[in-house]
Amino acid sequence: MANIAFIGLGNMGGPMATNLVNAGHQVCVFDLFPQAVESVVAQGATTKPDVAACVAGADFIISMLPAGKHVESLYLGDNGLINHIAKGALVIDSSTIDKETVIKVASALNTAGINFIDAPVSGGVGGATAGTLSFMVGGSEQDFNNAKPVLDNMGKNIFHAGDHGAGQVAKVCNNMLLAVLMAGTSEALQLGISNGLDPKVLSEIMLQSSGKNWTLEVYNPCPNVSENVPSSNNYEGGFMVDLMAKDLGLAMDTAVQSQSSTPMGALARNLFALHAGAGNGGKDFSSIFNMFNKVEK
Ligand code: NAD
Repeated sequence: MANIAFIGLGNMGGPMATNLVNAGHQVCVFDLFPQAVESVVAQGATTKPDVAACVAGADFIISMLPAGKHVESLYLGDNGLINHIAKGALVIDSSTIDKETVIKVASALNTAGINFIDAPVSGGVGGATAGTLSFMVGGSEQDFNNAKPVLDNMGKNIFHAGDHGAGQVAKVCNNMLLAVLMAGTSEALQLGISNGLDPKVLSEIMLQSSGKNWTLEVYNPCPNVSENVPSSNNYEGGFMVDLMAKDLGLAMDTAVQSQSSTPMGALARNLFALHAGAGNGGKDFSSIFNMFNKVEK
């Protein structure tokens, strides 16, 4: 069993750290919000008064933070963790952030003798709780192999996408496609409803036809078509519009860097930005369905 420091115990990090405790690891947890720390300590984790003490002596340091600026400041900022992590330890950053920050943090840590992989996830809060996340890893083969037994305790599918930053590129490609599928599925369902179709019947037809996709099958955006999905719970829980808008911004930045054409992704980014700007940032991303209603709710 390993000595693990886990930093960032929000919607995703809290249950991920709990799964590591349940797997028998020694887990020292830290978050800026004391309540987030207390709830994981109640599951058997330990904590220290400051984050530097938490990472001292850890074999693995896992971070799950909102954005690139938080990750850069945690590791490379004033009195950053680069000064406190043991040489030879492995940093696993699972936050969804920009590739440039990954490469900057990875190369600074590598120079200091500390190993690093980017390992963003897919699967949402449900996957984090159930331990069934998909991890998309960027880094060396050796670091991937060292991290895999730990990642196996939090996820079901662990992929090695390539070198540093490749995990983040895979993540934004996936989420850009997800956003396009969610917007397209919403548009098709609303078109059927406007023309007198029952959305349950239309969903069944499309699920057996060539329009079948993940958003239709397991995350239907039309209320009361599927049970136990955010659309049937007033679009609460799940994956926030604000986070999808952030990921689409990262996808567009990535496209600009490589001079790629992403017209569907650009449209999806604008739709989700408009939807967030209309006061829906805290709702689940399937609430984009309402944008295609004749009167947005
Ligand atoms: P969250 O806002 O719920 O949690 C982030 C946590 O980080 C907070 O508890 C915050 O206090 C803590 N934090 C911030 N700066 C810190 C610091 N310097 N030191 C210690 N703690 C600090 O966010 P989340 O939903 O858990 O998402 C985390 C990351 O995972 C994001 O990058 C997000 O894009 C990604 N992600 C989220 C989902 C999802 O469904 N929520 C799915 C896949 C990926």
